[in-house]
Amino acid sequence: MPELPEVERAARALSRAALGKTIASVKAIHPALKRKLSPARSRAVKGKRIDRIERRGKHQLLHLDNGDTLVVHFRMNGDWEIGTTDDGLDRFARAAIDLTDGTRVSLVDRRALSSITLDRKGASSLPKLGREASDLALDADYLAQVLGRRKVAIKPALMDQSVIAGLGNIYAAEALWEAELDPRAPSASLAKEKLEKLVAAIRLVLSPKKRRPGRYTDTRGTSRFAVYDREGKICRRCNGTIERIVQAGRSTYFCPDCQRP
Ligand SMILES: [Zn+2]
Repeated sequence: MPELPEVERAARALSRAALGKTIASVKAIHPALKRKLSPARSRAVKGKRIDRIERRGKHQLLHLDNGDTLVVHFRMNGDWEIGTTDDGLDRFARAAIDLTDGTRVSLVDRRALSSITLDRKGASSLPKLGREASDLALDADYLAQVLGRRKVAIKPALMDQSVIAGLGNIYAAEALWEAELDPRAPSASLAKEKLEKLVAAIRLVLSPKKRRPGRYTDTRGTSRFAVYDREGKICRRCNGTIERIVQAGRSTYFCPDCQRP
């Protein structure tokens, strides 16, 4: 599941391929994506220049020179594939953005859950988003304010995009392990010092220096993660055993020995 670092990397790759260029066509290929980008909206972007590319949470926004915005969300498996209009389409290409210089940016997604929509000038289909997980303005005071009203446990709260934009199942679990916080702790109960530790942990797990190569798994074969997908394995900090529980319908991995409420 692409989260902030993966979407950020995708937005940069998209910028290198498409920024400042003019759209020849945007085609939705899969029926699920056709429902989100109608033929009329596809036609509306023809000839428009991509002036700015922005990541907001897990959304990628392609700002066009007429004030319209293409909004892309990768959901579980989406990614960009950069090629040329002479190439055949990937069998999992769900949409294709062809540029007038012959570049083709395909939205590839095995499961076809990704979306691409067009917001007309002045309109926004984005949901309410909290501060960016990577934003320095995300501090303990902000967390105290947004978590103070929540009745849920801290792990699902961290994944709520209206609280923090960009964290998903993986980095929420990793940040809680770094902060030595129990994912079941009630959000509103966390003292200032714990929130400060959590903010530092979020920065650490998102930092490119800390993250090893590979999108979901380390290319060298060992796990990139301290707890995520490590059920039954040994905790690197305390030699406890990583457990898996289900919270809000999603797996949570944590070490019950060193992660405390
Ligand atoms: Zn532990």
